Amino acid sequence: MEKIKRTKIVDLLKSEAFGSTVNVKGWVRTRRGSKQVNFIALNDGSTIHNIQIVVDVEKLGEEFLKPITTGASLSVNGTLVKSQGKGQNVEIQATEIEIYGTADPNTYPLQKKGHSMEFLREIAHLRPRTNTFGAIFRIRHNMAYAIHKFFHDRGFFYFHTPIITASDCEGAGQMFQVTTMNLYDLKKDEKGSIIYDGDFFGKQTSLTVSGQLEGELAATALGAIYTFGPTFRAENSNTPRHLAEFWMIEPEVAFADLPELMDLEEEFIKYCVQWALDHCQDDLQFLNDMFDKGLIERLQGVLKETFVRLPYTEGIKILEEAVAKGHKFEFPVYWGCDLASEHERYLVEEHFRKPVIMIDYPKEIKAFYMKQNEDGKTVQGTDVLFPQIGEIIGGSVREENYDKLMARIEELHIPMKDMWWYLDTRRYGTVPHAGFGLGFERLLLFVTGMSNIRDVIPFPRTPKNAEF
Ligand code: ATP
Ligand code: MN
Repeated sequence: MEKIKRTKIVDLLKSEAFGSTVNVKGWVRTRRGSKQVNFIALNDGSTIHNIQIVVDVEKLGEEFLKPITTGASLSVNGTLVKSQGKGQNVEIQATEIEIYGTADPNTYPLQKKGHSMEFLREIAHLRPRTNTFGAIFRIRHNMAYAIHKFFHDRGFFYFHTPIITASDCEGAGQMFQVTTMNLYDLKKDEKGSIIYDGDFFGKQTSLTVSGQLEGELAATALGAIYTFGPTFRAENSNTPRHLAEFWMIEPEVAFADLPELMDLEEEFIKYCVQWALDHCQDDLQFLNDMFDKGLIERLQGVLKETFVRLPYTEGIKILEEAVAKGHKFEFPVYWGCDLASEHERYLVEEHFRKPVIMIDYPKEIKAFYMKQNEDGKTVQGTDVLFPQIGEIIGGSVREENYDKLMARIEELHIPMKDMWWYLDTRRYGTVPHAGFGLGFERLLLFVTGMSNIRDVIPFPRTPKNAEF
């Protein structure tokens, strides 16, 4: 076959170089047609759209075309022409086709359209080839790019925090242990505790549940940083919003106070949503048409709204009033309770009908490092609550006062041996500072309109599932 430089389908579909000879490579979505002419819908992943290849059956031979079934991979040389048919502007009149690989229709699982999301999870190694997952993963890439751009443009530095950690007090959830010890022959002391001296790091280590503590070290030196990395939580919560391995974005800003933190949270999410609307139109339109007719409208809606700033105590009042009026929640509502996602969603979807930043939580239900308010009861935590999802961001102003922070550490019996380096930020040149954590996949749930977090990450890790 004649060697012609390949053009991606996304570019060909925009081209007006009619009459030129082009090469296109990709995977067959469908082949249909008559004895005289066949139409192959070819996709190369560069866009949700296929390019139509028009084939003169007599010229290439019926036998030759037979193995060109759904999933087969091709290289096609041909002439770019203005399309006669509906639905596309350009098509390719094939002159030569090379078949790279066939896909036996008797065994290739992606035959018909409309496979269930559950079935596609079982074949997560092939699901990126579907229109739906192509769209989702292109959006995922775009969101990652937007996040880096947002922070870079505002002078934040991308800071890499460790994935293996020796502190067991990050306080954000159950951890996965990391060890090279022989689990069949663990050395224990007389009390039955495992002796870690001989382990790789000489102490007990785990996969990180958050980069925040190290992020604070960086923010109190570089001024403003963000992390964007894998995060692990061994909590056994089999929900549509939890993964055991997910990606978290954690900005940390020196000299920021509560209003500045909330403004950053709001500006950041809106920037990401705007980016998706501007740069992922075709993929969003596809998801809107196929799954969720309200998706694009919902994304545009969020941009128009100013997020509500709601103190926890007021939020509880609203929920208690709802209960008094007969609204049924599964979990009880009272001052001091940790809000369940049904509560969060009531506030966002039914009461305010817009995103809510809840602040000033009871200190008992929040982490030790949050800045304590004058009332002695509440701390400057901020959860950003979103329609469909509930908590999308958890953030706070950090307690910068050494004595107050120490008092809290002692109250909670957090082992000090793990914390000395963190406390040095408060011991030397302490400053007010604030930051937040956004679960990347929670953002993607909102932007794609998917209802299960397993469908916005390529290879989900959840309880009893680490396939592929
Ligand atoms: P939740 O209450 O929803 O379990 P959390 O309060 O434990 O979350 P944080 O410790 O505040 O979560 O983490 C910051 C952000 O990371 C959350 O707002 C959420 O977007 C995301 N996140 C937390 N846990 C998970 C998880 N298991 N899977 C996916 N994203 C998560
Ligand atoms: Mn949280």
